[in-house]
Amino acid sequence: MSKPKLPIYLDYQSTTPVDPRVVEAMLPFLADKFGNAHSRTHAFGWESEAAADLAREQVATAIGADPKEIVFTSGATESNNLAIKGVLRFHKKKKNHLITCLTEHKCVVESIRDLMREGFDVTFLGVDREGRIDLDALEAAVTEKTALVSIMAVNNEIGVTQPLEKIGALCRERGVLFHTDAAQAVGKVAFDVETAKVDLASLSGHKLYGPKGIGALYVRLKPRVRLEPLFSGGGQEQGLRAGTLPTALCVGFGAAAAIAMAEREEEAGRLLRLRARLLDGLRARLDGVTVNGSLEARVPGNLNVSFAGINSETLMMELRDLALSTGSACSSASHEPSYVLKALGLEDALADASIRIGLGRFTTEAEIDYAIGAFAEKVAKLRAQGAAPAPQPAAMR
Ligand SMILES: *Cc1c(COP(=O)(O)O)cnc(C)c1O
Repeated sequence: MSKPKLPIYLDYQSTTPVDPRVVEAMLPFLADKFGNAHSRTHAFGWESEAAADLAREQVATAIGADPKEIVFTSGATESNNLAIKGVLRFHKKKKNHLITCLTEHKCVVESIRDLMREGFDVTFLGVDREGRIDLDALEAAVTEKTALVSIMAVNNEIGVTQPLEKIGALCRERGVLFHTDAAQAVGKVAFDVETAKVDLASLSGHKLYGPKGIGALYVRLKPRVRLEPLFSGGGQEQGLRAGTLPTALCVGFGAAAAIAMAEREEEAGRLLRLRARLLDGLRARLDGVTVNGSLEARVPGNLNVSFAGINSETLMMELRDLALSTGSACSSASHEPSYVLKALGLEDALADASIRIGLGRFTTEAEIDYAIGAFAEKVAKLRAQGAAPAPQPAAMR
């Protein structure tokens, strides 16, 4: 077995490397093709506009949308803010209620906290041990004041998918708009705005092998979804997102979306095999390995496991050759257990023992085999040492 190059990247839910084909497509627009895509009066502008139009079409095609329904943003954080605040603020005279769930990404949670300070009402749905919401609870939470349901397509920590089609059907039946944070879904699982019956969907370039700093919000045109923009400016992106388009980033995002479309199914199959190899390997070498969240309703590239009796921060310090994460934001000096795992009902000790292993396009079998060996060795070592103390915050990066 060949030894893989170190360190090994196993944090594909945090970000993905830019695919070399994407870099290739972008380069001209970082060099001589510098025109402003909104300049209507000369060839420099037309060239950039054509490139941005193609990118918009590629992104739209990847999710079964019309190019006119794609609003380019700086990423999924901005898209989530725009969708959630935009819809609630637009409809505030008639409807002031929003439904979401406890395991949403931080940027959704914080957008909603802003709205709560503005006086909006919010229902946070819980999830079961698998990480999935209860559709009956969702149905019961809808009132005539509900403007929006925002439920993520795929969770960033545990990779668990939500039953989008059923949520979408329920929302449509009840006349409520449906937004989904699809940053971890597009290019990983089948995602189609018609099938899922979503009205708004947030996308991110750097989660699908595109560049950072670009994303999109899908905004349904038929029937047209109305929302308030976040900031003022020159009326670009149909008045929903002012500012000059970053042509190179748009081109990269478009190229990445096209590659994801073409290669998703084959890649998913390969990643499922690699993940099974990893989990089987870990369980063959170690006791007390539990998977957090549903293994079936999960994107192929995610594994979130707890190693009983281990502190995951300590373990990651030992595993310096592996780029891993707990999945929870390690904010400033304090380390709190993941709110996602707590929502699943995990005990603190098991939540503290959790590690997110993210596999992706460039993960190899040799890397997986190396990782299994490294985990087996270090977990056994820490368990032999007994209860391992958590590292000091200063040691965290
Ligand atoms: C990464 C991520 C985001 C934030 O995306 P950016 O493009 O980095 O702003 C939002 N939601 C989910 C689920 C994510 O994984």
